[in-house]
Amino acid sequence: MAAPDRRAFLRDGALGAAALGLAPSRAPTWRRFQGPKTRRVLVVAFAGGVRTRETLGAAGNVPNLMRIAEQGVVFPRTRATNLGHFGATLSIFTGISEARGIRDNIRGTDPTLFEYLRKDLGWTSSDVWVSTSGGAQEANISHGLHPEYGPKYGANTLDGDGIFNAEFKGILDAYGRPREMGAQELALLEKMRASIGGTAKGALNDVDSVARVERFLLDELRRGTQDLKGLGAADAKAFRVARNLLAVFRPRFLAVVVREADQAHGSFNNYVQIVKRNDEMLGELWAAVQSDPELADSTALFVLPEFGRDADLNSRRGLDHGDGSDDLNYVSLVCWGPDFRRGVNVQEEVRTVDVCPTVCAMLGADARYSRGQRLPRLMA
Ligand SMILES: [Zn+2]
Repeated sequence: MAAPDRRAFLRDGALGAAALGLAPSRAPTWRRFQGPKTRRVLVVAFAGGVRTRETLGAAGNVPNLMRIAEQGVVFPRTRATNLGHFGATLSIFTGISEARGIRDNIRGTDPTLFEYLRKDLGWTSSDVWVSTSGGAQEANISHGLHPEYGPKYGANTLDGDGIFNAEFKGILDAYGRPREMGAQELALLEKMRASIGGTAKGALNDVDSVARVERFLLDELRRGTQDLKGLGAADAKAFRVARNLLAVFRPRFLAVVVREADQAHGSFNNYVQIVKRNDEMLGELWAAVQSDPELADSTALFVLPEFGRDADLNSRRGLDHGDGSDDLNYVSLVCWGPDFRRGVNVQEEVRTVDVCPTVCAMLGADARYSRGQRLPRLMA
């Protein structure tokens, strides 16, 4: 019997160490985690505090999410990190439990997924987008203030409700018509330009893409995104903008961040209606991926709330978030991708902070400050 070849021994040893997360170089670990097909990733922060009871526990509310779950991998025991909406949502993108309170309105100090991807992979800002339902907090997700990362690696940010306001509808008449815009129309256009990126300064950090984005926004106005109205309209706009972004810019990483389900504090019924509407919009986004052969073969999707809600109704027949129940602390993470397993439920406990390092590993970047782990039993 021949003694094992020294080179083979070292190689196998290195792989074994990599599997345990002990490899001196992380490159082999990434390669092992990178599927052959995944070239782009969508992360939907189905946020605002959403319990599994109203999603996978009530299939009628979320037929689209159910369909995606049945063809993908579900982690029904995904532990949320803290109980402020902003901090908990930010944690999904930093992979660190962010200790920020509910009213905080500042950027974090930890790098985000967007920054890891752009810095490690040399991607431009038009590769990396975040579409939000509006508000300064959500715009702050696009990048942190870490000295090694920061604004120059941030995501392009579109705040659907801020931009696709009925006020801008007048621009429509001028757009596409071969004539000069009037002073009032020009003023409106200036205002729209100013609202790109919401209130976040420098959110649209690639100056060269501004013209393309502007053209996109004007097209959005023509497509009627501003006409989405009623309960949950701000979230619906964020989904619609994301769907159209996907078609126009074909981003390599796209995040959708919504939050209107938080109306649950005052009304359980409104909350359920918003969950249903967001599922419809998710279905629209999903259909856009599936109907495009290139996207369908190369796009992975992650959907998760930032945390759940209390087990019992409050005195207003609403649902708060603060009782420490499993309904609050655990959410369902649904993953679908061309390199993922199909129709699998993973009962193992994972965490919302695991999404960031998982996505980075899949695309070949290193979420070096993240505290999360790569999701187990995900890859086919
Ligand atoms: Zn709340």
